[in-house]
Amino acid sequence: MKRLKDTKNYYLNQFRSNMPDVQTIPDISQLKQKIALLYLYMNKHLGFREAPRVILTKSEENANKQELGLTGYYNPQDKVVKLFITNRSISDCLRSASHELVHHWQNEHGMLNAMENSNGHYAQEDPNLRKREYEAFLYGSILFRDFQDEKRYGPSKVNNPLPKIV
Ligand SMILES: [Zn+2]
Repeated sequence: MKRLKDTKNYYLNQFRSNMPDVQTIPDISQLKQKIALLYLYMNKHLGFREAPRVILTKSEENANKQELGLTGYYNPQDKVVKLFITNRSISDCLRSASHELVHHWQNEHGMLNAMENSNGHYAQEDPNLRKREYEAFLYGSILFRDFQDEKRYGPSKVNNPLPKIV
């Protein structure tokens, strides 16, 4: 098995070149650094096997151009996290990243198998994928919260286990 290199620089190399103009977000290099740090934080709690590729892209490239368009998605086949970042704050982009990284972790553990045959309503209609969505929202949000608190106040003395969603 390929060993995950646990360094920020290694992870920064996972970003593809499909970058929006620098003007579309206040500081794109800051966003990339923070996604890398978030990834490393989540890796300590979830244990990824490999770093997924992350593509930061303009929201206009989203097929759904309405206000409620996608903010990000994970493709289990090519193991790519795609984030639509135009006109979004760094914190908001990081929240999307944490959610999609949980989907990557699920995929590495064979939990997204039904995804190939799914339609747009998989999160509502497929019972397993519904649970995986609960898990991605729960784990993604709480790990992001803990990550933020660790950055603000230093590491916590307590390491709460993540609740199991069967
Ligand atoms: Zn999701």
